[in-house]
Amino acid sequence: MSTHDNYSLFDDVCKFVDEAAKHMDLDPSLVEQIKFCNSIYKFYFPLKNGDGTYETLEGYRVQHSHHKLPVKGGIRYSSLVNEDEVKGLAALMTYKCALVNIPYGGAKGGIKIDPTKYNVDQLERITRRYTSELIKKKFIGPALDVPAPDYGTSSREMAWIVDTYEAFNPDSINAKGCVTGKPLSQHGIDGRTEATGMGVFIGIREAVSVKEDMDELGLTTGISGKSVIIQGLGNVGFHTGKYLQEAGAKVIGIAEWNGGIYDEDGIDVETIKAYQIKNKGFKGYSKGKFIENAGDLLTYQCDILVPAALENQITGQNAEMIKAKIIAEAANGPVTQEAEQILLKKNVLILPDMYLNAGGVTVSYFEWLKNLSRVSFGKLEKRYDMKKYETLLESIENTTGDSFSDDQKHAIAKGASERDLVISGLEETMVTAYHSMNEKRKEKKIKSLRTAGFILALERIAVSYMDLGIFP
Ligand code: GLU
Repeated sequence: MSTHDNYSLFDDVCKFVDEAAKHMDLDPSLVEQIKFCNSIYKFYFPLKNGDGTYETLEGYRVQHSHHKLPVKGGIRYSSLVNEDEVKGLAALMTYKCALVNIPYGGAKGGIKIDPTKYNVDQLERITRRYTSELIKKKFIGPALDVPAPDYGTSSREMAWIVDTYEAFNPDSINAKGCVTGKPLSQHGIDGRTEATGMGVFIGIREAVSVKEDMDELGLTTGISGKSVIIQGLGNVGFHTGKYLQEAGAKVIGIAEWNGGIYDEDGIDVETIKAYQIKNKGFKGYSKGKFIENAGDLLTYQCDILVPAALENQITGQNAEMIKAKIIAEAANGPVTQEAEQILLKKNVLILPDMYLNAGGVTVSYFEWLKNLSRVSFGKLEKRYDMKKYETLLESIENTTGDSFSDDQKHAIAKGASERDLVISGLEETMVTAYHSMNEKRKEKKIKSLRTAGFILALERIAVSYMDLGIFP
């Protein structure tokens, strides 16, 4: 949904970098090197339809930065995919990974198709052909470039990708690590599907826990009681809404491309999702008010606005009308650079995409590590830990004469499962990154958390170049 004809996500990301660089002492040629996309692969390939007709499809894979390898980033299927968008999204992956300290360069891929217009068989053929084009040019591989799901793709496409890659690389022991976000049966990891939404939730929870920041916004601390409007009820929007609701927030509005829903009393996220899947939209839902022009919901009164769809949604045109106190960027690039300037003046706290949706790539990293080590997390130590804690509990019982309930015993003495460890790693990553970003913001006396995030990311990326002696 581009509102400006001349909108460029890549230019916007570069402007954010320039803004951060103003607060640093980096060699301008190094900033230039960091900003460019290192490799851009655009290609066309044919799709043969069942009726004998052919279509030519446009595909991309952009590797933004090779300062760390492999490069990492999702694959998007959307009719809006274009070179500028893929470049911008690839660049965001570089800064995102650097900010949360995940050792990857950034990349992104895409195919310019509306996936809803193709059947499963066609989508499989498109995905396998796209993968073989990447293989031909060495734009995929566990040590080179590792895709993942993004808008319009899911674990299903990732299963086709890994299967195609393995067919071409039968002797590669690390082949499973060529893509993440795979189904569990195909060596995925427990928790990857909900990881981005869970990360968004953890990020919001951290932001609203800082009393002095909430005082400035005129909000109380904590999630409980906060009103939330979400744009996009896909994988990320749905899980974010679900976790926020479970923590006591009230989801009062949800916007989708084919209409929105508003209910001051709160919308049950799981119920509305089930309704949406069945009825292909919110129209006719028994509770709340159907909003024909869903974009209007972005400007409704709420505490937290969660854009979880596409880039370029809050722009110079609607930023002035935004009433939310916090904008939580679950999507990539939903707030333009121009809009951010307006929102900062209005004292809105923006939790930037490069931080807030980093939970996806964080858990992707865990999946990749699992694939390279060929053992699931917790497999070796789970039972050992269980026995150790059982012995400890028993000796406490013997010494005190008191006994623990079965529930207490289970909570303390259960060894960590793969999922427990994934959530623990995700939480550690998101919590640490939030506070280092917020501290940087205060240290530099700037308003924008995004600028602080870019400063931290640039510091890390610059060091990798400087330690090689390439730049002063
Ligand atoms: N597509 C997701 C993102 O934009 C995940 C990328 C990944 O896991 O590599 O962050």
